[in-house]
Amino acid sequence: MRKWHIKKLTKEGKILFISLIIFILVIIVIFNSCEKEETKVIENDIVNTSEIDTDVINTIFADGMNTKDYKNILNYIPTKLISGVNYNKINYEFEKTLHYNDIEALINEMNKSDIVNVYIIGKSHDNRNIYDVEIGKGDKILMLDANMHAAESANAPILTKFLIDILNDYENNDNEVVELLNKVKIVAIPCINPDGYEIYNFGVDYLNNKKLWIYQDKDNVFFDHFKYNANGVDLNRNFPTQNAGLYYNEYKLISSVSLSKTTQRHTYFGGNTLGSEPEVRAVMYQILSHYKDTYAYVNIHSQGRVIYSGKPNLSDEYNNLTIELCNRMSTFNKYKVHGLDREEIGEGNDGTASDFMAELVNGFIFSSKTGRLSSNSYKNNNSSLKYHAPAVVLETMNDNYKDPSKYKDEYYNHGLKEMFYDLVRYVNERE
Ligand SMILES: [Zn+2]
Repeated sequence: MRKWHIKKLTKEGKILFISLIIFILVIIVIFNSCEKEETKVIENDIVNTSEIDTDVINTIFADGMNTKDYKNILNYIPTKLISGVNYNKINYEFEKTLHYNDIEALINEMNKSDIVNVYIIGKSHDNRNIYDVEIGKGDKILMLDANMHAAESANAPILTKFLIDILNDYENNDNEVVELLNKVKIVAIPCINPDGYEIYNFGVDYLNNKKLWIYQDKDNVFFDHFKYNANGVDLNRNFPTQNAGLYYNEYKLISSVSLSKTTQRHTYFGGNTLGSEPEVRAVMYQILSHYKDTYAYVNIHSQGRVIYSGKPNLSDEYNNLTIELCNRMSTFNKYKVHGLDREEIGEGNDGTASDFMAELVNGFIFSSKTGRLSSNSYKNNNSSLKYHAPAVVLETMNDNYKDPSKYKDEYYNHGLKEMFYDLVRYVNERE
């Protein structure tokens, strides 16, 4: 039988044959990459098991996050800002209270540096951009974020100032900083709650969408100490963590937790459904896309010079690592370090950003059954440190300061600047 051979084909035939082969190869490559993406999401990031000891739960008062919404965060593609050219030294010394668009202008200035990448990772309820500012070339990440709570508005300027300072040092060829930023990458959200920041500093009329809850209920809101977003949700109770939106039989629901939107002082509402708020989804995206390479996470608040360490539902290994970092931070700013005895679980008070990071670092996985991170057990989990990052809550000066000279004093004279620089050293030192 005569052998079929490509040489026997006409020229057109050969072109057609080769095109067909290339087409098939392209289809195979596309099919494989799609399949990998799907496998990655389902097998590694989502489980369909649940906690076995559900009898410890008294009441679940917030629904878990929908699995489809969680997948959307895992597959989210942020918008990279086009970077400028020719970095010029940025001068910012807390001269005035910054509008959010002043902070955005500073972020755009930073983006002119070669070692800076800026991404829009989400939008607030009032359609303000939420930014991820990344500085450095290293593989090991220091993750920082600030101003989740509206009236804690010292921290967006303070964190922005630190980013500017270390960038100026790098661009000025400071030997230590150049070496550090070749090995470490700082990944930062300068302001998680831009609507709250703007309203707190400049008034509720700065809201664009007057249909939002905070405008509709403005006559009842205590703006001096308000914490939530423009939709009336405390973002730091809206993360889908193991114990978010529920409380145990052995406790009563903590009195400061409200089960609906509230203007009462000293009470907060974490949402009817976990992960419902766009600002929370932006932070979840940030954490989920970087936690495996993160060596320290500091979530910055303002409740009076304290550092919180430790999570009672997590491993000793994790808690020891965290308290070590907190003590190290405290040597610079002399803030008081609170240990495990000041953290509770199962009182209705969980669902914070630091809970979310800490549980992921301990190997918890999102459960499609509970709509929360899960470790199979509430009480007897055998979690252990799977990744690297201690998750720390830093509380700088008290909230309700609108005076930027006070922020400046805290940054320079209460050890904050040195503490931030040392966090970069800490990440560099970690194995
Ligand atoms: Zn706070």
